[in-house]
Amino acid sequence: MHSTVRLYGSRCLPLFPPPSRARGSMSMESHPESLRLGPRGAYSQPLRENGTEEAADFITLREWQAWGTSSPIPARVVEVIEDLKLLERDADAEMSFGGLGGKLQGDFKVHEDKKHRATYQSLNDSEEKLKFFAARQIACRLLGSRGYLCQKCWLAQEDCMCSKLVSSSLWCGIRFWLYMHPKDFLRQNNTGKLLWQVFGVDAATLCLFGIQEHEEIMWNTLQLAGKDKLWCLYPNKNAPTKSVQDILLHDTLQRSESESSMTGGDAPINFILLDGTWNNSAAMFRRLKDKAKSLWGEEDLPCISLSTSALSAMHKLRPQPSWDRTCTAAAAARLLVELHNRPEFNNYKLDEQAEAVEDVLDVLLEALTARRLRMGRSCRRRQRHNGIKVDEDLLRLEAN
Ligand SMILES: [Zn+2]
Repeated sequence: MHSTVRLYGSRCLPLFPPPSRARGSMSMESHPESLRLGPRGAYSQPLRENGTEEAADFITLREWQAWGTSSPIPARVVEVIEDLKLLERDADAEMSFGGLGGKLQGDFKVHEDKKHRATYQSLNDSEEKLKFFAARQIACRLLGSRGYLCQKCWLAQEDCMCSKLVSSSLWCGIRFWLYMHPKDFLRQNNTGKLLWQVFGVDAATLCLFGIQEHEEIMWNTLQLAGKDKLWCLYPNKNAPTKSVQDILLHDTLQRSESESSMTGGDAPINFILLDGTWNNSAAMFRRLKDKAKSLWGEEDLPCISLSTSALSAMHKLRPQPSWDRTCTAAAAARLLVELHNRPEFNNYKLDEQAEAVEDVLDVLLEALTARRLRMGRSCRRRQRHNGIKVDEDLLRLEAN
């Protein structure tokens, strides 16, 4: 099931041409973020003769999946995009995006702010509010990133790192779920995306927080696999800390040894990795916990923490004090190393798979550093104050 390593092939799939630059505009180098969408004509579809536009005109399944998912297009995301397009017409204001994270800008933003706040207020249910929030975030990021980001690596097309990506096969006894906050979706410095870029979307699957289609796919799989095949990598303060040593492997290993490949009913161990800022991860964890409780009763979601001893095994990981806690790819690599150190796992080359993740993390850091330097902003501005490495500083700046 994890054989589709090079899911997208090695080439990138920018499905839309980059926006035409505004006449007399400053160069991409000087204002790279503000010109991604030109005037309305750059990306919007012309109205049909009967004056209606359909969702399929706004986003196709192919475009959606090319960002790193095999799910259907989320219905609520389509709704939000439709509403944005209607608003664009009704308010006679052009939709434009800019700034880090591709936020709405200009007059349209003023109209949209008013409208989405009213919509949000009108929803009584916190579940509905979350779903609306998530869908709106995703919709804006999708529209704002079109033609600007490479769909595979989520970097600006001029920084595309895909040619340096080396894919690898994750051992079939393991599956990662990247439970990602919508604000991290299509973020250039996100590292969770690296996992499916290396291992493929079947071995490392994106699950967007608050996106029903994604959460259903994940929970259906987890329910089928069973609770003993689920571990959330999270330091759950309300339960005794467990480590990789506590994972029971008998079933998985027996099956793996008796069969050359996993088949139908054989579920891999599912690891959920929370992929969001430290502040957002508490709400994400709560949602996971609530769902687990509704499925399996009172018990807590099984959680593990990484042991610090694994740090030394991460020979390539640079010292990154604060980033260390929230970098999803580094956490996944470390988890693989810790698993590899258990004798039962010795034969699965998990150390090599960890190295593949570390390597791609290096590639991402280099690409982000090069971008920063090219744009003339110093990566080192905070270094003299606290000795933080360039990379970490860079990532923090990008995250703001
Ligand atoms: Zn790329």
